[in-house]
Amino acid sequence: MKEHAVFFPVVIDGKVHWQRLALEDDADGAGGPGGGLSCIRTSEPVKAFFFSPREKVASLPEKFEPAMAEKRVLFGAKQCDIAALRVHRRIFLDGEFKDEFYASRRRNTLLVVADCPQPEDTCFCNLVGGQPHAGPEDRDEADVSLAVIEGGWIIEALSAAGEELVSQSGAAEASGAQVAVRDEQRRRASALLAGFNPREFAKDAPERIWKRNTDKVFWQHQAEGCVECYGCLAVCPTCYCFLLYDRPGEKAGMERTRVWDACYITAYARVGGGANPRSEFHKRFFNRFYCKFSHFKTWQGMYACSGCGRCIRACMGKIDVRKAVLEA
Ligand code: SF4
Ligand code: SF4
Ligand code: SF4
Repeated sequence: MKEHAVFFPVVIDGKVHWQRLALEDDADGAGGPGGGLSCIRTSEPVKAFFFSPREKVASLPEKFEPAMAEKRVLFGAKQCDIAALRVHRRIFLDGEFKDEFYASRRRNTLLVVADCPQPEDTCFCNLVGGQPHAGPEDRDEADVSLAVIEGGWIIEALSAAGEELVSQSGAAEASGAQVAVRDEQRRRASALLAGFNPREFAKDAPERIWKRNTDKVFWQHQAEGCVECYGCLAVCPTCYCFLLYDRPGEKAGMERTRVWDACYITAYARVGGGANPRSEFHKRFFNRFYCKFSHFKTWQGMYACSGCGRCIRACMGKIDVRKAVLEA
C-alpha cells in the first residue's frame, strides 16, 4: 500500500471531490478526507482516472511510449462508479481492440467502494440494476467494500487484491452487532432511493426508445430548456466517445491526441464532404438516450448509465434523464 497514491472524497463548498491524500491529512476528520466517505458520488466522473479528457496517444516517426501508470487506491468510490467502469470495460478492454492506456491504469488501481447511507434525489442506481453499496456481484471491478458506522468502518474484501489490502489493514473482526448496524443502514438507504424513484423503467424501455427515433415532437419536448452546454456529457462516467486529431510534433514529425467527444456536439456525426445526419438538435438529443438506454442494453445486456445523477445535477436546463426513459 505504501507505494500507492491514495485518493479520497472530500467535501468542498457542499460538493464532493476527489483529492489526493497528503500524509498529514486526517482521514477521520469531519472536514477532512473521511468526511466525504458517507456522501454520494464525487462531482467528477471516475472515468477521468482511466480515460483522460485529453492525452497524447501516438507520434511519428518516433514511437510514443506512455508513462508507466501510477499505482493508486480510490478510497471511497461508489457502486455507481463500479457500474460505470463495467460499461467502459466493454469498450476499452473486452472489445476487438484493447486500449493499453486504459488497461495499465485500470490494472494499477484498487477500488474501495464506500456505502451511500444518504442517497440524494438525483440518484437512481436502483433503476439501472445497481444499489447504494457494493456487493459480491461487484467483484469484477471493486476490491473492497466499506461502510462507515459509528465508531469506525466495516471493510469486506471483494477481490484477491482486496484480501491483501484488508489483511494489511490490521482490522479486527466486526461483531455481529456492528454488521447488523451496517445492514440496517443499507436497508434504509435502499428504501430512501426507492422513495425517490417510485416508478421503475419499463422492461421494454430499449424498444420504446428506439421506436421513438423519428418522433421529432417527443424529443423536442424532452429537450425543452436545453441550452446545448454539453455539461451532462462531460460529467457522465459512462460516455466513452472520443476524437483523435493530428498536429505537427513539438520538434518534428506528427503527434496524435485523443480528447473526449460527445454526441450532442453539432459536428459529432459530420462526415467527409460536410454532410451531417444529426444536424438538428432533437436528433442528437435522441441519440444520447438511444445509445445509453436502448442500443447498449441490446448490445451488452446493460444500460450505459449508472444512475449516478451527475447529468441531472449539472443541467442548467433542469433536464432529468429519467423523464424521457419513463415517458418513451
Ligand atoms: S447513484 Fe446510488 S451508488 Fe451512486 S451515489 Fe447515488 S446512491 Fe450512491
Ligand atoms: S446519463 Fe446521467 S445518470 Fe446516467 S451515467 Fe451518465 S451522468 Fe450518470
Ligand atoms: S446539461 Fe442540460 S442544458 Fe446542457 S446539454 Fe445537457 S441537457 Fe442540455
